[in-house]
Amino acid sequence: MSESRQTTRNVSSRLESMSTVRYIAIDPERLDRMRDRGADEYGNPWTLRVANGGEPLRCCLRRAEPDERIALICYTPWTQPSPWMEAGPVFVHFERCAGYETPHLYPAAFLDHDSVMNTFDHTGARAYQHITFVRPAEDHEAVIRALMAEAEVAYLHVRSAEALCFTFEVQPAA
Ligand SMILES: [Zn+2]
Repeated sequence: MSESRQTTRNVSSRLESMSTVRYIAIDPERLDRMRDRGADEYGNPWTLRVANGGEPLRCCLRRAEPDERIALICYTPWTQPSPWMEAGPVFVHFERCAGYETPHLYPAAFLDHDSVMNTFDHTGARAYQHITFVRPAEDHEAVIRALMAEAEVAYLHVRSAEALCFTFEVQPAA
């Protein structure tokens, strides 16, 4: 275990009992506007697909069951212009779903996932020195808590380390 990882563990165990962060799925009202319009924010038609099963759904932060009604859209988590803005493909439910109902918990469906914690500072710039890759066997929540405890880190985006697609956002608890 590296010295920096040791520090990470100590910081995270101190914070373990506190719900310090929120795990955020795509805003359901923003998705409803796309459904009403019949297209995502980049003009791709809102098209019904039948899930194979296992597709990562960014509206409720779980994996699709076989035959669920889903859509593949282009999405950006940014709501203001930013040079760091990126948009890319995400699966969501075709119709409105219940959303993510346990925002104080790391979404269980993504704990077994190779992930990138893409960190941003308080100006909205990417905090390059804190970007962290997490393997399935590692404690994803502990890594998140340690990163969010860094003074420089304001929020972060979790991405798939395999596909590099955006998965969900992590913000400090209000
Ligand atoms: Zn959903």
